[in-house]
Amino acid sequence: MHELLTRLGLDRDPRVIPASDAGDGSIVSVNPATGLPIAGVRLDNADAYEQTITRSQEAFKRWRTVPAPKRGEVVRQIGNAYRDCLEDLGSLVSLEMGKIKAEGIGEVQETIDIADFAVGLSRQLTGITMPSERPLHAMREQWLPLGPMGVITAFNFPNAVWGWNAMLGAVCGDTMIWKPSLIAPLTAIATNNIARDIAKDLGHEGVFELVIGLDDEVGERMVADRRLPLISATGSCRMGRRVGAVVAGRLGKCLLELGGNNAVIVEADADLDMAVKSTVFGSVGTCGQRCTSSRRLFLHESIADGFCDKLVSAYGTIRIGDPLDDNTLVGPIISDDAAAQFESAIALAKQQGGEVLAGGGRVDPAGLPEPLRKGSYVQPTIIRAPGSNKLPVAQEETFAPILYVFTYRELEEAIAMQNSVDQGLSSAIFTGSVRSAGRFLDPSGAGSDCGLAYVNLGTSGAEIGGAFGGEKDTGGGRESGSDAWKAYMRRQTCTTNFGDEFALAQGIRFE
Ligand code: NAD
Repeated sequence: MHELLTRLGLDRDPRVIPASDAGDGSIVSVNPATGLPIAGVRLDNADAYEQTITRSQEAFKRWRTVPAPKRGEVVRQIGNAYRDCLEDLGSLVSLEMGKIKAEGIGEVQETIDIADFAVGLSRQLTGITMPSERPLHAMREQWLPLGPMGVITAFNFPNAVWGWNAMLGAVCGDTMIWKPSLIAPLTAIATNNIARDIAKDLGHEGVFELVIGLDDEVGERMVADRRLPLISATGSCRMGRRVGAVVAGRLGKCLLELGGNNAVIVEADADLDMAVKSTVFGSVGTCGQRCTSSRRLFLHESIADGFCDKLVSAYGTIRIGDPLDDNTLVGPIISDDAAAQFESAIALAKQQGGEVLAGGGRVDPAGLPEPLRKGSYVQPTIIRAPGSNKLPVAQEETFAPILYVFTYRELEEAIAMQNSVDQGLSSAIFTGSVRSAGRFLDPSGAGSDCGLAYVNLGTSGAEIGGAFGGEKDTGGGRESGSDAWKAYMRRQTCTTNFGDEFALAQGIRFE
């Protein structure tokens, strides 16, 4: 077994088996950089799911009675444990998901950051008071734990998406049942084991549960399960439509973090070097497999040609290869299927009149070092829309490093094009003008329609302090900072009559 797995204790986990032993009832986790198996993972079935739910329900009854700051202390120790294995866990993210090591480590750092945030929050789960209209009455709000919650995560952030939910959910008094993507189960096992063991050592067994199973058998069961008052689901819009409908059908709560089709607008007065650097990171980082990746670029017509030239030369310097090699900037795409979708999108763009300015296909395996030749590597691609500015393929999210470039004359036109897609996650403008920035962030809502709107920074790379999420088909959920914690609790309005009279609101007399 890979020595990294041993260092993270995965060799002692009964779920993890040699890849050669995997058969019915198990899956194999594959290293996308080499196409080789890393290890096998035993799947949970419906019975195992039932047992998990029972443990989580029992744990919830105890966990909710632990004072929130004491729950924060558990989360503090979990965050510190992730600090201790930051490099190893980040490397496992890279090994299994294919993002470069710096980004793998950055992802675990996000979980550590949100753990710190949650520790502080554990003393600030505050409700407000409001004046009662009745004499000798007092009104206030309190926030209560919700219950066991289901966390469904996407493959591309196999550690942090759970971290965002679990660290906040835990201080709020909820217990977690995590169903990770079957593409990155080892990261999920390593991540969850650390939290599970610390909680257990501190007397809180069952707070962090993991269930790894097929969508049909376990995923659907979880989504339909009335014992889970909240389902937090991160993934494609297709998945969100299904999960959202099922949870709504049982009147449960859903926190949806779905696909994006994010755009960057570059005004003529922008700092162009900054805009180029930021656009390159936004479009090629994580091989274009972030929900916030930059997929569309709107350039003011006066700077478009020069800007494209700069982008093309920057793309020419991108080192593609082994994500665990410190010199690599772009690792593999997750699978051969994903590479095929990348190729289809490019073919469609060409049919629609798009011109390929950079990239345009898979990386020739012959040009890669021998161990990487069975991995799926694609060239980060820039496609310029035809003069008509019409490129229907750009209206969809293709989870790959393709950047579609459009031109515009008036800012309103660029904002309208940006807002014309179904998704509403992340958006950015580069400008030196207060007026343009103001119009982009117009408080009337006439500017960007996305959940995230940035001025002079790119679409990807959110900080945990703000609420993260998007509108329209992105699902409307908010996670991470600000008051996103409220999604993990239920609100109770409490009114106390401390007088001697029975009094009704609105002055109603009932005698
Ligand atoms: P996916 O939709 O294929 O899978 C996501 C998760 O949903 C997996 O765990 C999967 O097993 C589960 N799932 C799918 N169908 C289900 C069902 N019927 N019942 C229960 N669970 C089900 O997505 P993916 O390919 O893993 O991730 C890529 C997508 O996720 C992209 O669209 C990306 O934009 C999006 N994403 C969004 C965010 C965000 O915060 N908005 C973050 C990361 C990824």
